[in-house]
Amino acid sequence: MSNNEYNNRHNARAFGAGSRQTPDIFDQFLQNLGFYRKHIAPDSCSLFRAVSELEYDIQLYYAKTRKNATEFIRNNKQLFVKDIYENFESYLNNMTKPRTCGTLLELRALAYYHGANVILFEPFTEGRLIIFESCFVKTWRLFYVDDHFDTVFPMEYMEMAADCQAIVYEILYKNVFRLPDVEYAVERMLHDPEDNMIIYEQNESHHTVAKTVDGRQLELSTSKDTRCVLMHSHLCHFHNHENFDAIQQFFSIFGPEEGCRVYIGSHFRDGARKPNPLLSDPKISCVRQLLKMGITPFPYKIAKSLDRHIYRNVEFDIWVEMRIEKRNETVFENDPQYVTNLRDDVACHIEHIVPDKKSVLLSTIGKQEVRYIDATKFLKPLGTIKRG
Ligand SMILES: [Zn+2]
Repeated sequence: MSNNEYNNRHNARAFGAGSRQTPDIFDQFLQNLGFYRKHIAPDSCSLFRAVSELEYDIQLYYAKTRKNATEFIRNNKQLFVKDIYENFESYLNNMTKPRTCGTLLELRALAYYHGANVILFEPFTEGRLIIFESCFVKTWRLFYVDDHFDTVFPMEYMEMAADCQAIVYEILYKNVFRLPDVEYAVERMLHDPEDNMIIYEQNESHHTVAKTVDGRQLELSTSKDTRCVLMHSHLCHFHNHENFDAIQQFFSIFGPEEGCRVYIGSHFRDGARKPNPLLSDPKISCVRQLLKMGITPFPYKIAKSLDRHIYRNVEFDIWVEMRIEKRNETVFENDPQYVTNLRDDVACHIEHIVPDKKSVLLSTIGKQEVRYIDATKFLKPLGTIKRG
């Protein structure tokens, strides 16, 4: 297949295919205009995150952007003072605080500071040019509702961003982690969960090739040059050519419980999703064997990042994760009663919190243990305690 032919077929899938349609009516309205609204974390820094992204391609510099805005307003008082209906200095002092929301005034200051024209989209509007100077060569697009700002990009730009994102994730998952059958897994997870559209054929080198519905030919991985997706890779026959048979025999004689205890360790049930963890097919990669059992080899959000037709808003996801983590840490603090529910026999304290696994590492005298906790019990705060 020529490159062009490949690319044509590869691009046959529309942008966003495999991802659920956005339920947000503002987003849908913008999509119909050919724009993508990139949601920014809904906190008091949304304007500064948005401008940081538009100016530096990354939201990380939002504190610096806030500082630039306040300094520019202070240094050009005559341009802004008429629009500030309180004491000029106290307004600016307030604006330097992270919990103060940026407004259209700070947007104007930043646009002049960076030399950018601004098109502002508001709900169900086609965008209006609110700042224009013929000497400005760049244009920012922002969405504004209820004192919150998001960035807006042309759809073609986001298609390119999705492509770049997929390349970065591919390098990570295929070349750094060296997982087998990464593209195949993405195809199965997002486009063909029942495995009834992919066609399997042998190529001239006698390797199995998976032909996807959009025309790609994915040569399935061999164990050579790939690494196991399992944490306990000795339980994967595809990657363990040394003693898998002996392990399997042990499991069949002593049962999976004893097998897990010996070959995984005493906490083998933590997170286990099937009773027997052995992947016994030597010819099919661990990734494919897991998919066959209905187990995803990596999270769906990773599959979406790896898909060239889907853009995943990673900054927003990270902000949400951090918020959850922070909230869980907060609710753990200062409530001895809660720990009473956890361990009622010995002195202990919380060593480490693992919010996504709903677990804590408890430390008792001389030993540590991981306890899994029902999320509903997180309602009350708790913290380090000593019980006699
Ligand atoms: Zn493996």
